Amino acid sequence: MGELLNVDEALEEILKTIKPLQAETIHLTQALGRILGEDIISDIDLPPFDNSAMDGFAIRAKDSHEGATLNVTMDIPAGYAPTETLQQGQAARIMTGAPVPDGADAVIPVEDTDADFSNLGNESLQETVTLYRAMEKGSAIRKKGENIQVGQTILTSGTMLGAAEIGMLASLGKANIEVIRQPRVAIVGSGNELVDVDETPQVGQIRDSNSYALAALIEQDGGLPLRQINAKDTPESIRKMFKTTLEQQPDLIVSSAGVSVGAADYIRAILDEIGEIGFWRINLRPGKPLAFGNISDIPFFGLPGNPVSAMVTYLVLVRPALLKMGRKSSNLPLIKVKTGEKMSSDGRRTFARVTLKREADDWVAYETGTQSSGAHMSMVLADGLLIIPENMGEVPIGTELNVQLLKPISV
Ligand code: AMP
Ligand code: MG
Repeated sequence: MGELLNVDEALEEILKTIKPLQAETIHLTQALGRILGEDIISDIDLPPFDNSAMDGFAIRAKDSHEGATLNVTMDIPAGYAPTETLQQGQAARIMTGAPVPDGADAVIPVEDTDADFSNLGNESLQETVTLYRAMEKGSAIRKKGENIQVGQTILTSGTMLGAAEIGMLASLGKANIEVIRQPRVAIVGSGNELVDVDETPQVGQIRDSNSYALAALIEQDGGLPLRQINAKDTPESIRKMFKTTLEQQPDLIVSSAGVSVGAADYIRAILDEIGEIGFWRINLRPGKPLAFGNISDIPFFGLPGNPVSAMVTYLVLVRPALLKMGRKSSNLPLIKVKTGEKMSSDGRRTFARVTLKREADDWVAYETGTQSSGAHMSMVLADGLLIIPENMGEVPIGTELNVQLLKPISV
């Protein structure tokens, strides 16, 4: 057995070959979670006009003092454009968001006057209004361009679009925007023992779970999982599977099973025939064997078949590649924890499945039962993956290590 390849070096090799995808145009209603592929520059001022921040009366500040009585000459509901100029001694009834008329330089809230807006609509406009106090110039007026000005850069390419960004794009009139294309990811697998989720396995058979778990991970990372294909362990079936896969025009191909030492050699032979694939042995637990390369210039990952290994190698090695393609940044936070029990490793970089408990001021990690790479439940129960570094055989209780979170945790 030769040297194992360091996880970081393997990842570096992988990322060297991965290129970000181009942008496509989508409608704003499809934008949540997408990555902006253009800079957004405002071609308007926001607010677009001076407007009232309160329900009240637009006035000239100079006319205002306690007990001043002004003639109400205009009514300016929201959506209405005033046409007259406010003169000395006049007031305009105005609603929040409505344009402040020329001549006015302050708004006095209704609470600071003798007016009553509780029955608006059924009442005709009052003739006069008496003010309870003086107002400063500019009070309760939201100035044109106060938030955003023409020519201002509002969002830059690479920004992830959330609710606030989407609302802003709507304000700016950007109904259609450029976003990075979502990576199309083909998911394939092989094994005579595999049957689909709606079948009843016979003796010797199991249901294919990897393609479902991988599809979910891919979707979570902003990719588009394509229709999943599983092959039988025959050269014809495997060849056909790759042919159908290429017809789907994926940006990335992820396969599980068939890369371990004992796995049928013809998969290697076929991969060598149709692509340029390296068969790596990585200093990673679970998930030592990995095939990586390209088929017809499409990046290819051959992950191990055991469900936990498939998911962990996805998270450690495929995910960063997928994120790079989609120009996304990581959504799995790393936190510092202390180990709550004695653990052990075989010296490879180990991603142990752990639950986290809050104890005093620390997050404390406990293993989720057996850590066998086939123990799918260890993943179901896990809050995160505890990263035990290389060459740490024994992990004493209380060791401070990092955990990559898989789920939100609450204090
Ligand atoms: P292999 O790499 O083909 O030797 O597979 C390793 C282990 O992973 C075996 O126990 C397989 O049955 C299991 N396995 C392979 N593919 C899948 C799959 N799609 N879903 C669940 N288990 C799988
Ligand atoms: Mg197999």
